[in-house]
Amino acid sequence: MSSVVETASPHLRMPAAKAKASAAAAAAETSSQRISPPETSSVDDHFFWTYTEEPHRSRRQAIIKAHPEVTKLCGPESLTKWVVLGVVSLQFTCAYLLRNTSIFDWRFLATAYVIGATSNQNLFLAIHEISHNLAFRSPMANRLLAIFANLPIGLPYSAAFRPYHLTHHKSLGVTGLDTDLPTALEAFFLNSILGKTFFCTFQILFYAVRPMFIYSPPFTLIHLLNLFVQLSFDYVLVRFTGSWQPVYYLIASSFLAGSLHPCAGHFIAEHYFFSKVKSGGTESLSELKTLKTKPASKTESPHPLADLAPPETYSYYGPLNILTYNVGLHNEHHDFPAIPWTRLHKLHSIASEFYEPLPCHRSWVWVIWTFILDSNVGPWCRVKRAQGGRIVGGGSTEKKQPTGRGGEGISAASAGPAGEEGDGWKESEIQC
Ligand SMILES: [Zn+2]
Ligand SMILES: [Zn+2]
Repeated sequence: MSSVVETASPHLRMPAAKAKASAAAAAAETSSQRISPPETSSVDDHFFWTYTEEPHRSRRQAIIKAHPEVTKLCGPESLTKWVVLGVVSLQFTCAYLLRNTSIFDWRFLATAYVIGATSNQNLFLAIHEISHNLAFRSPMANRLLAIFANLPIGLPYSAAFRPYHLTHHKSLGVTGLDTDLPTALEAFFLNSILGKTFFCTFQILFYAVRPMFIYSPPFTLIHLLNLFVQLSFDYVLVRFTGSWQPVYYLIASSFLAGSLHPCAGHFIAEHYFFSKVKSGGTESLSELKTLKTKPASKTESPHPLADLAPPETYSYYGPLNILTYNVGLHNEHHDFPAIPWTRLHKLHSIASEFYEPLPCHRSWVWVIWTFILDSNVGPWCRVKRAQGGRIVGGGSTEKKQPTGRGGEGISAASAGPAGEEGDGWKESEIQC
């Protein structure tokens, strides 16, 4: 093994000796003391660097030990395909009915924001659920359902999403692998009210474009099928209705789903840390219970989490989960990616002593609002690790080396345990 963790950008070259020394520093992370970045960056780096393992694997093991029955919650959910069918039909109907309505007409815009964006966010999250093989037992049936769920999104997305997302799970916070992380350059340029407003408005483009600059998973037959089916569908839609408006409607719905929309709050709510915000909004369920019986005093006191290492994942338990496949239960989802959306609340109640002390968000709208306006939260508020993780999914059986074209590549030499098959998840601790 090389003594240097190679990366494509100079600021992420980390000598192994330094990595070992840094592991010792992990203990210091229980305080708010920051660890310096692995190497100097072209911009001043303000991410929260850590050398500890991601928290979900150890919590999963602890929960299974305390409540072995949670493993029975794993496995496909038959309801998913019917929800997909309903939402896809709804979007087809709206697209058809708007075939003669201008995109500047208020009825077009209102439908695209209220129904279209909500439906397409729901379909993004259906594809997320299906990417974890949670709609059918057969992997191929899941891939095909995802391509079907993709139709109202307007552009091919489901095949490309899957390998990046499985890698996000396997390599949470690992720079160069987890494409949910903003790069230092993004954080540098977007760290202002204007920049954060721009980021929140065009979030969907960041999620679509950023991964291509980080690494390229293999292009498989499923990618080709996704591309072919989607372009054919768009063509048929234009020919059948004699208008481009239905395609514009579907693409506008996708754009608004990842813009300033209440359901888009989940993108930021999941992994940006809100430890230092002034206003309340990220208390744990246990804290909220105490607050109900003993209201907080008006005097400003430091947040109870201010002295701890920032949490990497936050859950949200509010009503928008109904529209979003319970993606708000994100700690629960990362702990058990093989439990489908319908059984995450059950997991939460079985293992409540693990989840109630964790900070969670009360509102996704509050999350977007605070992210933009509070100078104590922003694109730098992410936990990053320079080691560990690996690329999974995408039909490859090999561990791939990220190309790091975006300047944040890193060696996958310290990859996790072997035994994964081409389909992604094949690890005993996740598969139930
Ligand atoms: Zn996540
Ligand atoms: Zn997931």
